[in-house]
Amino acid sequence: MSTAEDLARASRRLYSLGWMRGTSGNVSVREGDDILVTASGIDKSAVEASDAVLIDAYGVALPNQGRWPSAEAPVHAAVITEAGAGAVVHVHSLAAVEAASRWPEGVPLVDVEQLKGIGRGAHGDTVVVPVVANSQDMADLSARILAARDPGVPGVIVAEHGLYAWGDSLSQAIDRTESFDWLFDHALRLDRLQRPGG
Ligand SMILES: [Zn+2]
Repeated sequence: MSTAEDLARASRRLYSLGWMRGTSGNVSVREGDDILVTASGIDKSAVEASDAVLIDAYGVALPNQGRWPSAEAPVHAAVITEAGAGAVVHVHSLAAVEAASRWPEGVPLVDVEQLKGIGRGAHGDTVVVPVVANSQDMADLSARILAARDPGVPGVIVAEHGLYAWGDSLSQAIDRTESFDWLFDHALRLDRLQRPGG
């Protein structure tokens, strides 16, 4: 199966999980010296291999492809190039957005089995997922994500926006995205239970 087909299948899966409503969200994967990213403005429930666009390490589309990359392509390129990721997933996960609203200084996670899904320990390992402010300037947003990034945490939440998660491979980036969503949902539910009257 080609990388473009993997990208399309990943997008459809993430759509089916409810994290790519409308035309939101995008996925990228390293392809040699370049990067394959989902095209701009497409319905992720019906992504095909032909919806993948090649961009360079700076997020600029290679010529003569007949499609435009996602507007957020420069952020994907920055994470792949600067953070050394093999693939990046960006989703508008409701749990990620709500968790960032609840913990704007960073989302604390501890003592839960699913932490293994982001490469951390199930017990006694305190993880804080960085939160950055949103921006419509992609260079600005990229810089914020790279500056806030914790090398031991494979994701950053953009407040009032969504989650960027990454891995060495596309399947690892997806697994981590699924774990992050579960962890944020769990943290929010636990927080409600522990409040007086909750
Ligand atoms: Zn977005």
